[in-house]
Amino acid sequence: MKRSAAEIKVTGIVQGVGFRPHVYRLANKLGLAGWIINTTNGVTIRVEGRAKDIKGFVRELQTSPPPLAYIESLRTKKIQPEGYSAFFIQKSSQSLDADISIPPDVGTCPDCLKEYNDPNNRRYGYPFTNCVNCGPRFSIIRASPYDRKNTSMNVFKMCADCAGEYEDPANRRFHAEPNACPTCGPQLLLTLPDGRAYNGDIRALLKAGKILAVKGIGAYHLACDAKNDKAVRLLRKRKKRQTKPFALMCRDLDVVRKNCELSLKEEELLTSPARPILLLKKRQTSMLCDEIAPGLDTLGVMLPYTPLHYGLFDDDISILVMTSANISGDPLIIAEKEAYSKLGFLADFFVVNKREIVNRADDSVVMLFMDMPYFIRRARGYVPRGICLPYKVEPIFAVGGDLKSTFAYTYDKKAVISQYFGDLDNLENFEAFKEGVRFFGEFLQIKPQSVACDIHPGYISTRFASAYAKELSVPLIKVQHHKAHFASAMADNALNESVLGVICDGTGYGEDGTIWGCEVFHGNYQEIKRVGSLESFLQPRGDEIIKYPLQMASVLLYSLWKDEDKVMRVLPGCKRLLPFVKAQVGSKTLCIESSSCGRLFDAAAAICGFTAMVSYEGEAAMRLESLAHYSPEVEPYSYSIHEGSIMRLSWGFLSEMADDKLQGTEASILAARFHTTFINALAEMVSKLAVKYKTDKVVFSGGTFQNCFVIKRLAERLKAMDIMPYFHRQVPTNDSGLALGQLMIAANR
Ligand SMILES: [Zn+2]
Ligand SMILES: [Zn+2]
Repeated sequence: MKRSAAEIKVTGIVQGVGFRPHVYRLANKLGLAGWIINTTNGVTIRVEGRAKDIKGFVRELQTSPPPLAYIESLRTKKIQPEGYSAFFIQKSSQSLDADISIPPDVGTCPDCLKEYNDPNNRRYGYPFTNCVNCGPRFSIIRASPYDRKNTSMNVFKMCADCAGEYEDPANRRFHAEPNACPTCGPQLLLTLPDGRAYNGDIRALLKAGKILAVKGIGAYHLACDAKNDKAVRLLRKRKKRQTKPFALMCRDLDVVRKNCELSLKEEELLTSPARPILLLKKRQTSMLCDEIAPGLDTLGVMLPYTPLHYGLFDDDISILVMTSANISGDPLIIAEKEAYSKLGFLADFFVVNKREIVNRADDSVVMLFMDMPYFIRRARGYVPRGICLPYKVEPIFAVGGDLKSTFAYTYDKKAVISQYFGDLDNLENFEAFKEGVRFFGEFLQIKPQSVACDIHPGYISTRFASAYAKELSVPLIKVQHHKAHFASAMADNALNESVLGVICDGTGYGEDGTIWGCEVFHGNYQEIKRVGSLESFLQPRGDEIIKYPLQMASVLLYSLWKDEDKVMRVLPGCKRLLPFVKAQVGSKTLCIESSSCGRLFDAAAAICGFTAMVSYEGEAAMRLESLAHYSPEVEPYSYSIHEGSIMRLSWGFLSEMADDKLQGTEASILAARFHTTFINALAEMVSKLAVKYKTDKVVFSGGTFQNCFVIKRLAERLKAMDIMPYFHRQVPTNDSGLALGQLMIAANR
């Protein structure tokens, strides 16, 4: 028999996903000899045997890889046979090439769950059960390549049984790096807030309304029984979290269905290996108290994603509040010492273990849009999976923005976006951010050729980028906020041509020194031209205004009408504000020109009755959206679009909306009419510009497009006009997606 041999190089998500045992079994099945090795590139395989078996091997590898693997490229080269007699798995090597994929954390697989629930299994009830198809990954990795010695599991020496599984190519735990069992792995410990062990039952404590700090995969959670209104209120009070919604963890899908509307696609997303928090429409029949998500018609729901979580539930405990354990605005807490000192006054008990969290990661938050996950926050379960770029670019580091911060590196044809770090004006978040930059930099071994940042002179991220560029002696490239959004949406959809883009959000520093926030662009990565915008209005200077929708509405209505009495009739609570408002309107020192979509939505929310101080970013707009969902389909207000070198959409329709309110129209109808006007006006602008610029493609980005009411109807309307709308697919539409756009623009400067 003539012996052939081949070398196969595979890149993609091929480490930490059971790729080597899979290949081992496949080679044995086909009677091939040779070896496989993890490299910093992915994996390299050598096979020897009959030519037709080698062909079959490659085909099967491509068509049915292991469930968690993702093959990005597979290259085969014919080589000389070396006379191997068997197939084996080689120990990993450290090569100089740095193209690597770190696997994201994976929710418990059905096989492990079965073992966890089986009284006859040696892992019965063991909260850290995992295998090659599930368990912690990114959160425990210290260095490349992904091997047990480079993870925080290195301190646990495997017992003989576990080591046997780990070494046995036929076993599901073959090279499962976090492999553990009750004999050798981490143990669950219940303690008091002072760290002393407590002999009690976790579920009994939850039933008694206690608040527990639970160390999970990428961070600690604060958990309490979601059906216990008193416990939920206590948690809000202790956490000083007024109205920002709490995430929920449901025991199973039935519990989710009881409280939320759930489509099949949503069910798939909820049970996917990433196990994100999914935003679902709350059922009117749900018995959960309004304090979980005050004033909103949605709930953020996830399923258990480690055996430890399954152990928190029983027949009585079916839904838990599971909110990130941090002080409002601070970074996630991951270290035990820190947890005790910072959460001691928030939690009654602690559920901890000795498996160190190396890389913090929040729960990801998504909704289902166009049958795909649409990201609000991208972290655990997705990070640090790379995003394919439209073409290969030089190594670049992009720092993102200051809010909802993430950073990104490019290498080759990919961008790696970091997990979410929160807002950088919080010093501790900034420290965590810098730690993340250091980790990714070392892990990816990339030497950026340039550093990209926002043009905002006051941004902490801009200052960091400037210092970093100096340190590396590479150019600093500044990218306007909304142009970065534009490029991000293009790259997210792998577009590489001139298109239109609509970017709507709260605040971004415009190129003319005013505030931008509702902009239409035409262009590509090389050149982006502003071709449309919301007509600017005067907005009180400073960041404080984002907290006061009532003031924003007063300013807008007063500048439209110059009629105090009428403004007061629309906004009964604004009387004490009016003297300030009158001074502000028309004063260039007290106000700044702005086309911020966020502020327009704030004003509309206030007209609809949401006049309280905003307690979390986007609250007013979210309340407004929730109101709109309760309305039947409605007619828009009349609006006007002014043509010119930059097309301007007038916001004067707020006047008609306010009049509508004075007629006694219900808030939900006002909200729906406002939304519909906004949607129709944007669509009309886009269609006019599409003709002018001869394109039928338009991308959307910016925080405003987290609004489900807007995106669903906007997408439908544009498709009906034969215009193809592109929304974000892999990175959030909010500022967490900025870094990707900065990369693409920097790559083309
Ligand atoms: Zn498993
Ligand atoms: Zn063991």
